[in-house]
Amino acid sequence: MSLLRVESVSKRFGGITANQDVSFEVGAGKIVGLIGPNGAGKTTMFNCIAGYAPPTTGEIWMNDIKVSGMSPEQCARAGIGRTFQVARTFTSMTALENVMVGAFLINKNVADARQSAAKLLSFVNLGQFKDKPAGSMTISEQRRLAVARALAVRPRLLLMDEVMAGLNPTEVKETVDVVLKIREEGISCLIVEHVLEGIMPIADAIVVLDYGKKIAEGSPEQVSNDPKVIAAYLGDE
Ligand code: ATP
Repeated sequence: MSLLRVESVSKRFGGITANQDVSFEVGAGKIVGLIGPNGAGKTTMFNCIAGYAPPTTGEIWMNDIKVSGMSPEQCARAGIGRTFQVARTFTSMTALENVMVGAFLINKNVADARQSAAKLLSFVNLGQFKDKPAGSMTISEQRRLAVARALAVRPRLLLMDEVMAGLNPTEVKETVDVVLKIREEGISCLIVEHVLEGIMPIADAIVVLDYGKKIAEGSPEQVSNDPKVIAAYLGDE
């Protein structure tokens, strides 16, 4: 069953078409990778889904709720969580306080927010950083911290923007393990990623954008053998 439905979404900025007539779905409890060369329109699609930049045309649905046109807060209430390409951690606050920022939106009570934030830190394997300033953590740890903060709002769909970029193979594996745990919790993940060796082995489906258009969709194997995808990645113009 589909949780998220993106229906014929186009997004234009003046004369630039960042997304053109893009449709795809994310099933409940599935991991979907959104890939494509630089400038293909992946982050713009995230911004459309999460309410940061409404589609110019087309519609986006979470189950029976039309989220296109809603504010980021309303999208969050509809179950859409997200991380950003540049992890927006509060560097002078502790890891626990960073996650509590998200938890406060759900738990009004400080003790409950603290407890739920502590559980989430352990969930992303950062329990040992509870009382450390976020600024003292590695980029990889800060990305997982941002994931914990997004999870604190209890999304049904988590949008992750390049959480594996620039990480070493051990860090990619740690991140992949967390993504798999998120799916085990029944939360769907839509992941923008350039690190194909991270996303391909775990994705239930891959959607490929190029110049704003969807050029392929299917299993990781189907997509990686698709001549259009190979041409897009090799810069065959
Ligand atoms: P990358 O992999 O490099 O992060 P991307 O696939 O996420 O790229 P987008 O950032 O969505 O691509 O950009 C798609 C196109 O839309 C680009 O040509 C970009 O310059 C343009 N674009 C994105 N946001 C804006 C904006 N706010 N105003 C004008 N143009 C924009």
